[in-house]
Amino acid sequence: MAKRDYYEVLGLQKGASEEEIKKAYRKMAVKYHPDRNPGDKTAEEKFREATEAYEVLSDDKKRPLYDQYGFAGVDGMNGGGGGAQYSHAFHDFSDLFGGMGGGFGDIFDNIFGGGSSRGGSRRRSGPQEGASLRYDLNVSFKDAVFGTKADIRFKHNETCETCKGSGCAAGSSKRTCPTCNGTGQIHRSAGFFAVQQPCPDCNGTGTIIEKPCPDCRGRGVQEKAKKISFTIPAGVDDGKRFALAHQGDAGENGGPAGDLIVILHVDQHPLFERDGQDLYCAVPVSFTQAILGADITIDSLDGKKISIKIPSGTSSGKLLRVKGEGVPYTGYPGKRGDLYIKIMVQIPQRISSTQKNLLQQYIEMENPSTNPKLMNLSSL
Ligand SMILES: [Zn+2]
Ligand SMILES: [Zn+2]
Repeated sequence: MAKRDYYEVLGLQKGASEEEIKKAYRKMAVKYHPDRNPGDKTAEEKFREATEAYEVLSDDKKRPLYDQYGFAGVDGMNGGGGGAQYSHAFHDFSDLFGGMGGGFGDIFDNIFGGGSSRGGSRRRSGPQEGASLRYDLNVSFKDAVFGTKADIRFKHNETCETCKGSGCAAGSSKRTCPTCNGTGQIHRSAGFFAVQQPCPDCNGTGTIIEKPCPDCRGRGVQEKAKKISFTIPAGVDDGKRFALAHQGDAGENGGPAGDLIVILHVDQHPLFERDGQDLYCAVPVSFTQAILGADITIDSLDGKKISIKIPSGTSSGKLLRVKGEGVPYTGYPGKRGDLYIKIMVQIPQRISSTQKNLLQQYIEMENPSTNPKLMNLSSL
């Protein structure tokens, strides 16, 4: 499926302001959020699409590249198999939704796993799921078609081994925060309103660490490098997402770890293009082969030799189908789409005098029509 323009996704014009982008995304995210539309695949897709668009358009570096080069400009920015790239959009939900009240911030924390605990703006006591992380993985066109294995190296927070996640140094423990009496919230009057705020002394956790663990400085987690060997199944396409369960950041207070979301970015191929499960390429043939017909051999994407029969009288631009030489269907071994070959008849720039004489004899037997015909602009 072709990707929709990011501005179009958010219902915006190209010159939209930062504020307009934020507002449009916020509106869509509230409407299509999976928690509000359980089991609704269309809403889920719209939410994903809007998040991706927002991620690029709210980024000072990516937006100008997208404006100038489109998807190609921003796809290239995602590191190829090397370092993990964590999207900032996954972490600024509290910025976007913090002011809404009514627990929307919590919903967004849940889907991307406690984004606010990374941002440090808010903490809660009780088990909390760790943050889900994003990893952009570049693969070649051929590897996406036939499948491959890739090593994913990234950094994530693991539960601190020294304190087993408590954040307390050996022999010490947490005590109830005296400022908020363990509730994690304090009340403050602001004009006519009484507002609840996270307690500043315990960061809203309700407890205070007497002596922080020296290895994690009281955080309960430590950043560690990790390597996962990841199998990319045959037939996957650009933009495909895989959720590797519990490979994200460790949870807090016994909560589960977040996921690692792997997003596939498929490179272009110099010769082959893809539409769904079908592959396309162009093959040059001489004008005599096109007139008389010929048996030719071409190299397929997997390097196999494929014989193709060019029927006599084949015009330039004709599509020939080679059955079963397209993209494998993921999860259906042996089932593949087709390969389409577009015939490009080549006209020689130089010919010998003998060839010229032969063609001269030929044209005398021919009665070419040079009456204009409808060109059909849309076919260009
Ligand atoms: Zn520790
Ligand atoms: Zn407190």
